[in-house]
Amino acid sequence: MLKGKDNLQLLTKPRRIVITTHHKPDGDALGSSLGLYHWLKKKNHQVSVVVSSDFPDFLDWMPGRGSVIMYPQSPEMASKLINEAEIIFCLDYSALSRTHALEPIIREAAGQKWMIDHHLEPEDFADLSYWDSNAAATAQLVYRFLEEELQGKADIDADIATCLYTGIMTDTGSFRFRSTTAAVHHIIAELLDAGARNWEIHEQVYNSATERRLNFLGYCLLNCLEVIPAYNTALFSIRKEDLAKFNVTTGDTEGLVNYALSIKGIRLAALIVDRTELIKLSLRSIGEIPCNEICKKYFNGGGHLNASGGSAAGDIATVVNTFKSILPEYKELLTK
Ligand code: 5GP
Ligand code: MN
Repeated sequence: MLKGKDNLQLLTKPRRIVITTHHKPDGDALGSSLGLYHWLKKKNHQVSVVVSSDFPDFLDWMPGRGSVIMYPQSPEMASKLINEAEIIFCLDYSALSRTHALEPIIREAAGQKWMIDHHLEPEDFADLSYWDSNAAATAQLVYRFLEEELQGKADIDADIATCLYTGIMTDTGSFRFRSTTAAVHHIIAELLDAGARNWEIHEQVYNSATERRLNFLGYCLLNCLEVIPAYNTALFSIRKEDLAKFNVTTGDTEGLVNYALSIKGIRLAALIVDRTELIKLSLRSIGEIPCNEICKKYFNGGGHLNASGGSAAGDIATVVNTFKSILPEYKELLTK
C-alpha cells in the first residue's frame, strides 16, 4: 500500500512542499489537504495548498483556509510554487486530470509526486503512493500516514484534528456509509482526544445553509425529481435556468443526490446538472450497483462503487436519456 517508501527520507530536512487536491474540493479534499498542511508547517517545511477552483461556502471556516491558493485568482504564483516544489502531494485524487488546469503544471514539474488517495484504479504518476481503496476517506489515510509512516501522531493538534475529522465526516456521510469501520471510529476517537470539537464541525458543515439554498432544494424536490420505479432509480435533472433562478454557487448542489437515494426502495440515484460547458453527473447507489463502472463506461468519470461522478457533452435532455438507456443493463442488480 505504501510504494516508494525510500523517498520518505526527503522529509528529514525542511523542504518546499505544495499540496494539491482535485477540482472543486469537497470536505475530504480540503480537510486532508489542510490537515497535512498544518502538520508539515509544524515540521518547518515551506508549505502551500494549491487548488484549481474555489470550494464550497460550508467549508469556508476550516483552519488554514485563508492560505489556500486558487489557480484562477493567482495563476502565476500557483505555477511558480508547483514548479519550485521539491515535493508535490496529490491528495484525494489518483488521476492527474482531476486537477483540471493544474494537470499540465503538475505533470511537468520536477518535484517528486506523492499521492495519498482512496480512489480505484490509480494512474501511475507518483514517486510515492500511499493508497487504499478500502479507506473511507483520504483524511483517514493522512492520519495513518502521519501515525505509521512519519511517527507524527504526537504532533496532531486541534487544527489538524479538526481538518481530518471534517474529511472523514463528509466522506462517510456523517459515519453512515459502509466504509465506516471500527478502525474509522478509532481514528475519530483519537481526533477528538487531539482537540477536534465534533459538534462544532457538524454545525459548521451541516447547519450553515442560506435561505436561498433551502429554496433551491425545495424547488428541486418539487420540480426536478423523477422516479423510475421499474429500475428502483431516481434522478434529479437541473437545467441552467434552474441554477440561474437561485443564483446557485459551488456547494449548493452538494448532498442533493442523497435525497433521491433516500426514497424507500431506491437503489440508484443520479444528479444531472447543466452547470458548465459539460453536463456533470453524480451517482450514488446501495449494495453492489457499480456507480464507478457506469461513470467510467458512459460518462468519462469514475470514483467509488457507491459514489461516483462524471460528465458528458450535449444537452441535458440527451444526457438524461443516455442515463435512462443504461438502466436495463443493470436491471438484475437494480431490482434484486
Ligand atoms: P460527486 O458526485 O460528489 O461529485 O463525486 C463523488 C465521487 O465520484 C468523488 O469522490 C470522486 O471519487 C468521484 N468523481 C466525481 N467526479 C469525477 C470525475 O469527473 N472523474 C472521476 N474519475 N471521478 C469523479
Ligand atoms: Mn475522498
